[in-house]
Amino acid sequence: NALPEDPIKENFTRQVTGVAYSQATPLTFRKASLIHVSELAKELGFDQEEIASAEFLQLFTGQVLYPKTQSYAMAYAGHQFGNWAGQLGDGRAINLFEIVENNNRWAFQLKGAGPTPYSRRGDGLAVLRSSIREHLCSEAMHHLGIPTTRSLSLSLSGEEVLRDMMYNGNAAHEKGAIVCRVAPSFIRFGNFELAAAQGEKELLKKLTDYTISTFYKNITTSGKEAYIQFFQEVTDRTLEMIMHWQRVGFVHGVMNTDNMSILGLTIDYGPYGWLEPYDHGWTPNTTDRQNKRYRYGAQPEIGLWNLLQLANALFPLIEDAAPLQEILDSYRTNYQVQYLETMMNKLGIYHTHKDDRDLIQQLEEILHLHETDMTIFYRELSKINSKTDKIDAFEVISIAFYHLDQLSDAHRKEWLDWLESYILRLELDVKMEAGDIITFAKARIQKMNATNPKYVLRNYIAQLVIDDADKGDYSLLNEIYTMLQKPYDEQPEFEKWYALRPEWARSKVGCSM
Ligand code: AMP
Ligand code: MG
Ligand code: MG
Repeated sequence: NALPEDPIKENFTRQVTGVAYSQATPLTFRKASLIHVSELAKELGFDQEEIASAEFLQLFTGQVLYPKTQSYAMAYAGHQFGNWAGQLGDGRAINLFEIVENNNRWAFQLKGAGPTPYSRRGDGLAVLRSSIREHLCSEAMHHLGIPTTRSLSLSLSGEEVLRDMMYNGNAAHEKGAIVCRVAPSFIRFGNFELAAAQGEKELLKKLTDYTISTFYKNITTSGKEAYIQFFQEVTDRTLEMIMHWQRVGFVHGVMNTDNMSILGLTIDYGPYGWLEPYDHGWTPNTTDRQNKRYRYGAQPEIGLWNLLQLANALFPLIEDAAPLQEILDSYRTNYQVQYLETMMNKLGIYHTHKDDRDLIQQLEEILHLHETDMTIFYRELSKINSKTDKIDAFEVISIAFYHLDQLSDAHRKEWLDWLESYILRLELDVKMEAGDIITFAKARIQKMNATNPKYVLRNYIAQLVIDDADKGDYSLLNEIYTMLQKPYDEQPEFEKWYALRPEWARSKVGCSM
């Protein structure tokens, strides 16, 4: 009844119906400057001169728009922490344009370039620390061979942003930053959920048809059959992505359905973290410490729960729950199969045996007995072979223990028992091998080292990079970026980063916003 107090503002941030996106224009940051440009620039065909040009800076900090393009923000909804959150949308992401390069489609999106019609109470801006975390980690994930959105560039906006610092609880000014994210598409489960929740079947169909014809070209059926196949493929890709996360100890931290890519890409690097002590119950998200919904060990189940929400959203196009339910059921079975495969690769066991699941389960139990660094433990494991003495084997893996001096005799014995079974298992593996044993042993180490990364973006390393960058020193950022490009290689110059997290960094956790 009453007129809005501020008609322009009320008309700007609003609930919308019948649309998939709204126009949005980046703010003009006159003092913006580039901090880092990733290898992706070269992959996309930019040469050194172009990267150094004023146009590059202007384009990827939003100072100018590419001619004849219209920037926009997407409308999406989502389930956050298990609850329906309604309409959300790109609140601090603005889509610039898309290119097709060697048959690959790339969409460019600025994060932190100002408010959009979906910003709600937010400012649409991003701070340097969260932007560094996104830029470094998305590129690290790519080099780990994990499907992810990419990051082309990291820039300072040249302006300050007001934030509640997590460290001291006071509002503080921080440096603003802009990341240019790149992916074939940024469409999420939440885009489908929004159309379905608003009862907009035509829009839902359009969105689904577009997604299939653009990104799932292998689907050649049509109608309901195509939608069922589409759901199957999204399910497979989602499982594949989460399996990679489990393999390397990546914990996403905010697996809300608005953060689930329809292409199975890791998206939205907020409060993510890497397991240091192996712990199924660990989450880097400080706002989720109570329920730990998004803890490491729960990620596969949460993936399934999120897929169920997507199934509900797609239901109006299919009108038959049975095929969707069947696909969801197969997720669990496939997970079991793939998990076993992944673990065999991590352990360097080639031939299968009926007791393998037991061996893996026992390992997971003793890994929880005493704080054991996941990355170091698995990496060191390749130094153990079928002829290693169990005492020597213990010596090898003990560098992964956080408090070796406090390890009880009982726990030590459990480790020795497990190592004994493991070494026997390796012996059996060699016996089962028909080919040349020397080649087999070499291949085992290679496989293990291509499965178990040596260098990951430990939370405290990211924090060190941030602390320096805050002071304008980007040398550590460059160093860590370089290291993370070859996470599986031995890199003697970076050996100091292959170490237990130092004690002072114990309480350092991931942070978002
Ligand atoms: P996230 O937890 O990062 O997935 O964000 C959830 C929702 O909040 C999304 O719709 C974001 O676009 C929005 N959002 C997060 N931070 C901001 C911000 N600083 N300004 C505006 N919207 C934001
Ligand atoms: Mg998000
Ligand atoms: Mg986020």
